[in-house]
Amino acid sequence: MIPASGSYHLANVRLHASLTPGLAAAFDADGFALANIAVADGRISSVVAHRQSNTPAGTIDLGGRIVMPCFVDCHTHIDKGHIWPRKPNPDGTFMGALNATGADRAARWSADDVARRMDFSLRSAYAHGTKGLRTHLDSVAPQEEISWPVFETMREQWRGRIELQAACLLGIEGVRDGKWFEGLAKRVAAAKGVLGVVTYMLPDLEELLDQVFAQAIKLGLDLDFHADETDAASAISLKKIAEAALWNGFEGNILVGHCCSLARQPDLDVLDTLDKVAKARLAVVSLPMCNLYLQDRRADNTTPRWRGVTLLHEMKARGIPVAVASDNTRDPFYAYGDLDMLEVYRMATRILHFDHPVGDWPQAVTSTPAKVMRLDGFGMLAAGSAADFVVFRGRSWTELLSRPESDRIVVRDGRAIERHLPDYAELDELMVK
Ligand SMILES: [Zn+2]
Repeated sequence: MIPASGSYHLANVRLHASLTPGLAAAFDADGFALANIAVADGRISSVVAHRQSNTPAGTIDLGGRIVMPCFVDCHTHIDKGHIWPRKPNPDGTFMGALNATGADRAARWSADDVARRMDFSLRSAYAHGTKGLRTHLDSVAPQEEISWPVFETMREQWRGRIELQAACLLGIEGVRDGKWFEGLAKRVAAAKGVLGVVTYMLPDLEELLDQVFAQAIKLGLDLDFHADETDAASAISLKKIAEAALWNGFEGNILVGHCCSLARQPDLDVLDTLDKVAKARLAVVSLPMCNLYLQDRRADNTTPRWRGVTLLHEMKARGIPVAVASDNTRDPFYAYGDLDMLEVYRMATRILHFDHPVGDWPQAVTSTPAKVMRLDGFGMLAAGSAADFVVFRGRSWTELLSRPESDRIVVRDGRAIERHLPDYAELDELMVK
């Protein structure tokens, strides 16, 4: 359907207002308009409203199928991915995940093991239509010396297919060893990475945050936090991060993931935190699939009572940039997942109510994470940008989000890619217990 020449006209394409800033068209109540896209030499040369009169001969009529820009997945863990067969989570809890992953990392994460699982994950993400991806890298000694070189090699190998970023990951108590943390921050800077830690309510949290911000300022790094991945209302590290950003005068980008406990706190506390988050220009990413899996997991075989996700609607209403992302895939933190951002968006629609109206929620898997990751031109469809987009079967939200869209067409640089999902059997030899 998509000519291999990389130069053609697509007509009768359904585009969403939130993803096509330059398109002058009459958008319907769902935010869609029919359009024509011209592609020349692998780039989009024009996006115009569809009319029979402006449809040249030889045009490919897509019959109203939805076309979206390629996805940006801003929070993943491809160093952990796919270890489930050899190291499952014994009880589905957060502590079960932490302990199982820590044991597997210490015993099994050689450079070869990490590289092969990372490559498997990236092939899946690419086949599903992802173009930019940030992974965290467990950076507890000595793993940082193993995983960062693997990441740098992988980033080179994938350049042009997936723009790969990495953030270091360690519990913030690791910052107490100031000399070691300074060395890690320099290693991250050398790899053009992002400085990341997991925050929780330690007595010296404010001092530790100051040290994290000091390193980021000194080295010119963006920041990425895992915060408050718990139902405990007393967990307020999101607010502490915002306060630290303000009093340190931080000017880089800050992305904060999870923030689950915010949904369990009294309204007045929530409003105070969100004021500070907006003022400090933090962006927030929710990980709906992982949160649904780990949060409210009950030991007594009773039913979970809350969805685990943070207050994205309230954040967006205040102008806080909000995204959703994959998080873990087939590891003790999440038994499932395949880095399919359409699945993430479908699940987010159901768990977080990205509908009635859909509004600009599609930006949460495209242009918003692209901005946080400083990926210029990613996550939108506009004349002059690379012809990187996904052609779906669905012609409406209900058609798009009801089926897995396994037969979607992923177009990169104007050409349809071969969509090969790797075979799980490839990893069998790494999974021997
Ligand atoms: Zn995570």
